[in-house]
Amino acid sequence: MKSNIEIQRIEKSKIDSVDFNNLPFGSVYSDHMLECDFIDGEWQTPVIKPYAPISLDPAAKIFHYGQSIFEGMKAYKDADGSTMLFRPLENHKRLNKSAERLVIPAVPEDVFMEGLKKLLEVDNKWIPTNEGSSLYIRPFMFASGIGFHASPANAYKFIICTAPSGAYFSGKVKVLIEEKYARAANGGVGFAKAGGNYAAQFYPTQLAIEKGYNQVIWTDDNTHEYIEEAGAMNIFIRINDTLITSPTSDRILDGITRRSVIQIAEDMNIDVEVRKITVSEVIAAAQSGSLKEMFGAGTAAVISPIAGFGYQGSDYDLPELEAPFAGTLKKAITDIQTNQAEDPYGWRVILK
Ligand SMILES: *Cc1c(COP(=O)(O)O)cnc(C)c1O
Repeated sequence: MKSNIEIQRIEKSKIDSVDFNNLPFGSVYSDHMLECDFIDGEWQTPVIKPYAPISLDPAAKIFHYGQSIFEGMKAYKDADGSTMLFRPLENHKRLNKSAERLVIPAVPEDVFMEGLKKLLEVDNKWIPTNEGSSLYIRPFMFASGIGFHASPANAYKFIICTAPSGAYFSGKVKVLIEEKYARAANGGVGFAKAGGNYAAQFYPTQLAIEKGYNQVIWTDDNTHEYIEEAGAMNIFIRINDTLITSPTSDRILDGITRRSVIQIAEDMNIDVEVRKITVSEVIAAAQSGSLKEMFGAGTAAVISPIAGFGYQGSDYDLPELEAPFAGTLKKAITDIQTNQAEDPYGWRVILK
């Protein structure tokens, strides 16, 4: 880091205007944000400043060529008031993997980790303590450098904002297996958390919503025969007692929740298969009664159970189980995240 993080404190905190018992997800923002500019080939001193709009040149390349990436993570506070993060170095690594693909400069580990820790110290009161609540953290980075020439920018901004959030409750979702559109292609940027990937998902998702579904199950762009992701989450499918998830690739994002679920499930002696899974296998399993569960996995919801799906004009319901894997796995992972269980993996990072 160029020099110590500079801190500009807000004059009057907004915290008293926030009802921590009724928090939405990701739409109330804490007092401060961290900002660090990449100019003249180097990262400048990170600054923690009051959360506020930023000013950009209309020719900034983010607006024209979409050089923009982000991460999603959470901070928790336990009963003793300790602050915890979950596998934060994995988010740093993935941010830089996304950065490389979009020709955005890598963020140094100290800017990311020290910046984040300092921000959580300054806004510590914003970390909710209610069961199921957490501080959602959004690190992101984009081209602030200018020019209408279609080439990488010469300046970038790295920002971390946080949002105290209630449980991400989606209810049991009905999903539509996609037959026409794709979120990612071979050789593309599907593995990166690049802003444009999500913009591209909105239209097919809107069509699915118009048909009465909540979300799209993405299939491979080439044949639409293989199941890949559930909205912006990785997907798990349980057939009999085997849990199946697609291998990561150019097209499938390497989710930290996905990796954690695989590890925990294996340690619970659940049979886990990381392999390609076809739509026809899922339909056959639904028809024979061996399809037990489908769920999405990602930081926001942790695990989001799927109630049923549509495909080629037919709807298929999933059974209501007494003790679904989804619930057991969600509890196991959130107990580790919130310091309510042993963490044999060393995933939890406790800040003072
Ligand atoms: C972020 C994301 C995930 C989940 O990743 P986590 O690290 O578990 O939050 C899965 N798929 C897509 C497309 C994503 O953007």
